[in-house]
This record gives sequence, structure tokens and C-alpha cells, in this order.
Amino acid sequence: MTQTSTEAKAAPRANDVPLEKVALEAYVPLAKPSLIGLSRVELAAKLGDIGVPASQHKMRVQQLWHWMYVRGVQDFDAMTTISKEMRAELAQHFTVARPDVVAEQISNDGTRKWLLSLPSGVAGEKAHEVECVYIPETDRGTLCVSSQVGCTLNCSFCHTGTQRLVRNLTAGEIVGQIMVARDRLNDWADRTTPTGSRLVTNIVMMGMGEPLYNFDAVRDALLIVADGDGIGISKRRITLSTSGVVPNIARTGAEIGVSLAISLHAVRDELRDELVPLNRKYPIAQLLQACRDYPGASNARRITFEYVMLKGVNDSLDDAKLLVKLLKGIPAKINLIPFNPWPGTRYECSDWEQIEKFSEYVFNAGYSSPVRTPRGRDILAACGQLKSETEKLSARERQALRAMAMTD
Ligand code: SAH
Ligand code: SF4
Repeated sequence: MTQTSTEAKAAPRANDVPLEKVALEAYVPLAKPSLIGLSRVELAAKLGDIGVPASQHKMRVQQLWHWMYVRGVQDFDAMTTISKEMRAELAQHFTVARPDVVAEQISNDGTRKWLLSLPSGVAGEKAHEVECVYIPETDRGTLCVSSQVGCTLNCSFCHTGTQRLVRNLTAGEIVGQIMVARDRLNDWADRTTPTGSRLVTNIVMMGMGEPLYNFDAVRDALLIVADGDGIGISKRRITLSTSGVVPNIARTGAEIGVSLAISLHAVRDELRDELVPLNRKYPIAQLLQACRDYPGASNARRITFEYVMLKGVNDSLDDAKLLVKLLKGIPAKINLIPFNPWPGTRYECSDWEQIEKFSEYVFNAGYSSPVRTPRGRDILAACGQLKSETEKLSARERQALRAMAMTD
């Protein structure tokens, strides 16, 4: 065990404070709710509530679905295939609102980060904020989406883990992040580009929060995102990353069917207990068994194993050897993530030379180009740096982080 880990045990982490004020349940809905995030069945029920006859539900739901999720319109008035009277009726009771954008930052590498405001649902308490990040690449555009404000799990290297969980996001707020990105990038179906191709092509549930501790909302949202008559991002292009909530891994396969990423980060239980404390509940052997059993895992559809490179902690060649040995028999991709430091962290990113050695070993064992290129560091858009308003960085911390981002 490293000296730093002993020090950390002595110093209580911010998350060790009692969670008595934590509101896990979704916020109290606004007077006029948004229709974003409802399933077709729920939408039909809402139409029933305002007196639309059942015989019209199927057609109306289809119309709404198209306008909301293919065209991305932001008010009912733009839904021109729906009668004026019906549009007025809908507008009287509902909205198609997504989370408000509080700030937008564009990195010099094209990465964009949006800070979104979410109602707290508690009278007098100010709005929560989460971030979502768009990463353009040559052959794809990936949106990194949040599932919770904060996180209950205290992974010791993750900045989100230092924040108490404030609340789960609703399905509408999760789908809303994709809609905001499409709004801001002008990326809806009527977008006119030479190729007509879309900018947001892939989704990763790798923002703030543990998606498998907000299972129902994440499932409902991802099924909407993957719906071929709507947003239409196929399940293959959606990746859910979990720190290892074993019972919900099988449910992810059965009820969502998206690609899976596992935040492994250590190959021995003793170390993983420290880096990802959830390991004490679901140790490595159980986690890997859930991966072996994951439906649809094949060589064409591999499970991604994320491994954050922490200097002197988990980056030795022995770790690399054990990693390859552990993953034997699982259709796997390995994704080495250079550690993104944050002010006050006890970890450092592994030296580049060591990352290369580790990566070379993994490459020679049959895993291709496994190092994740850091993106959007100048706007603090990288993994583990997303923040909520409740735990905003001080100006000094922000400056320190920016300096770290520039010098890496
Ligand atoms: N809660 C989920 C998904 C969000 S985190 C999970 O843990 O998988 C997305 C990825 O970023 C995870 O692999 C996480 O371990 C990693 N991560 C968190 N903090 C990081 C940091 N400071 N540097 C690099 N990667 C980090
Ligand atoms: Fe939560 Fe994931 Fe961060 Fe762990 S790495 S604290 S599970 S967001």
C-alpha cells in the first residue's frame, strides 16, 4: 500500500459527512411539465388526462414523437401537422422544455461543455447544475452525459466523488442533455450540411454520477434516445459506464441492451477497495463474472474496461500482466485513461513513459490503441472534472486546475 493512501485514511473525505439532507427522489414536477422523457405509453396517458380521445392517442403520440425527437422543435406552435386547436391545448398544459443552458464553453480542440440548470424541486432552494460535454472526432461526435447531480460513491481519484449526491436526474433531464447538444450544434434532422450527417453520433454515460444507481431513469432515457423513429442513436453507439453495480449489470443487458464499460482501475481487490470503494460490496471476481454473463458481449461487441493511470499506484507492468490475465475469455477492449488531476487530490498521473510501457504490454496481448486522448482540458471538460453548482470550485482552485490542464 502506498504512503498516500495511509494519509488519506486519516483525513476524512468531503463525502464522509452525513447525508441527511440528500433528496434521492426526483424533484417535484413543475406546474407545467415537459413532455420530454416520457415513454409512448406515458405520453398517451398525458393526452388522456387533457381529454384527447383514446382513438387519437396513437396518431398524436406519433406526431409529437416526430416533432420532439426528429425535428427537435422547442414549442408546440412549430408542430404544423397538428391542428391549431390541439397545439393550443397542448401548450396550455405542457411544454417541450429541456434543461436551461447556463453557460457554454468551447475548447480550442473543438470540445464543447454546457452547464445546465435543473430545478431543485425544493421551494426556496436554488437550482442544481450539471455539465455535459461534446467531443468531436473525425469519424464521430460523442456526447458525455450525466445521470446524477454528484455521486454517492467515493472513488478516491474522482472529483465527483468528493461531492455529496444531491439528486438523481429524471429521464427527461437525461434525454434533455442530448436535446440541448443538438439544439446548440444545430444538429436536428433538417440540418443542412453537404453530407447531411449528424454531429452527435455516440453517447457515453460517463458524466457525473453512477448510472446504475439511477437505473430506471437511465433505462427510460436511453430507450428514448435509441428509438429509431426519434433521436435514433443505435444501442451500439451508446455506452453505459459503471463502477460495478453488479446486480444492475444483468438488468442493463436485459432491459437496455447498450454497450457496457466497466471502471476497473485496479486488478487486486485490496487496491480496488481503496480506489473504488464499491468493490468491498462487489469484488473483482463477481464483477468479471457479471461481464462474462453480459448478453450480447462478443468480439464484435466488446466490453470496455476503463483503467485510470495513477502514478506508482496501479501502473506497474505486473498490474498490466494481471489485467490481461484477468480479462482472458471476456470479449474486451481496454481503455487507459490518463488521470486528470484536481486541486487537493493525492494522486498524480502516471509518467507518459510508464503509460506507454503499460499500453505496449496490453497492445502486445491483443488490445488495440488503448490510451484515451485527453480532450477539452482547457475548459475543464475531462473525466472527473465535471462539477455541480453546489460544490463549485473556488476561483483559486479553478486557476490551479487550469494551470494543471495547460502543463500536462
Ligand atoms: N460513475 C460511472 C460513470 C462516470 S465516471 C463510473 O464510475 O464508471 C466516467 C469515467 O471517468 C470512469 O471510468 C471514472 O472512473 C473516470 N474518472 C473519474 N475521475 C477521473 C479522473 N480524475 N481522471 C480520469 N478518469 C476519471
Ligand atoms: Fe461516482 Fe463514477 Fe466518480 Fe466513482 S468514478 S465517484 S462512481 S462518478
